[in-house]
Amino acid sequence: MDKVECVVIGAGVVGLAVARALAQAGREVVILEAEDAIGTHTSSRNSEVIHAGIYYPKGSLKARACVEGRRRLYEYCETHGVPFRHCGKLIVATSISQKEELLSIKAKAHGNGVTDVVEIPAAEAMRMEPALHCVAALHSPSTGIIDSHALMLAYLADAEAAGAMLALKSPLKACRFSSKDFVLQAGDTEIKTELLINSAGFRAPSVARLMAGFPAAKIPPEYYAKGNYYSLTSRPPFSRLVYPVPEPGGLGVHVTLDLAGQARFGPDVEWLERFDPRTDYAVDPKRSERFYAAIRHYWPGLPDGALAPGYAGIRPKTSGPKEPAADFLIQGPAEHGVPGLVNLFGIESPGLTASLALADDAVKLLQT
Ligand SMILES: Cc1cc2nc3c(=O)[nH]c(=O)nc-3n(C[C@H](O)[C@H](O)[C@H](O)COP(=O)(O)OP(=O)(O)OC[C@H]3O[C@@H](n4cnc5c(N)ncnc54)[C@H](O)[C@@H]3O)c2cc1C
Repeated sequence: MDKVECVVIGAGVVGLAVARALAQAGREVVILEAEDAIGTHTSSRNSEVIHAGIYYPKGSLKARACVEGRRRLYEYCETHGVPFRHCGKLIVATSISQKEELLSIKAKAHGNGVTDVVEIPAAEAMRMEPALHCVAALHSPSTGIIDSHALMLAYLADAEAAGAMLALKSPLKACRFSSKDFVLQAGDTEIKTELLINSAGFRAPSVARLMAGFPAAKIPPEYYAKGNYYSLTSRPPFSRLVYPVPEPGGLGVHVTLDLAGQARFGPDVEWLERFDPRTDYAVDPKRSERFYAAIRHYWPGLPDGALAPGYAGIRPKTSGPKEPAADFLIQGPAEHGVPGLVNLFGIESPGLTASLALADDAVKLLQT
């Protein structure tokens, strides 16, 4: 049976960032990925926004990891040639009743140290984006967009340059503890490892349940909050991101631009009882009516027939539809009692932005 020092489960953006950090710290690392390519789940099914750190409760891990991760991600993109754009974003109120919410978003941002978020007059927002309708607006200049696949390739290249190995089509099927090692059944192979990082995205709770003897009370529930996107079939009339005030479970159907200048709108929030990736990533064309209605609040000129079903992603949530959003949970030995194991649970948005910061946190927990 092969033995390696560390195994990372999952080659999404977070697992790859963790593998990179471990390999660069001199550890021997194998990344086990169930699929035949990296980043085929949540990490390639999101808005590709570099978030500033606006919405998260003060003192939360989401807030800290987003603000630190964003700063480091911009530097990383500059130094590693990962395509990105500092496009900025507007958060808009489209009715007087939403104005107060906008002020509380600004207060949250400032509480998180994101003090470049400022109120601007509605007229100025509409001058910046002539297709826009709003009654009040916030401007966040430090929000940007990124090519998430190029980022994952860069993390993987760094990890491999430091000696890490990626094993595709290697789903973790079982795990037991034997003396001080984990014995993993991955595909048809058995591997022993001293250190194990569970970075399996929305499947992280299921992966924890595969670990014989792991305390069940420490595994959070696995909820699936699908976010659907619609693509705009014409060139967008916006040059920066436009967000409405958030809706429960998500940030609201916003305008996201990609680096090629195309726009998509989303994600909405569709809670699923169970999730099968073979069928459930499809976007139901019947949802388009809701999208037209939501978008026309801030873009009244959206023409009929301009939207086409795009793609969908699953938010790795550990809190349910009626509960407040849970924070990221990076669970180490001090919390669950198993030496050498770190679980990353509930890494929903802004996990892409926060990936470098989360990776360092996970590595630190392995050292304690
Ligand atoms: C709709 C939506 C919009 C978002 N928008 C943004 C945004 O604009 N900005 C931002 O910062 N964040 C955003 N996020 C959040 C961000 O995409 C995630 O936090 C991030 O991609 C999570 O990465 P991950 O590596 O943890 O998970 P994943 O990308 O899901 O990777 C987990 C990997 O684990 C593998 N795996 C699962 N089970 C096993 C197993 N048993 N054995 C081996 N491998 C396994 C999977 O195949 C997968 O490749 C968004 C998320 C969603 C859903």
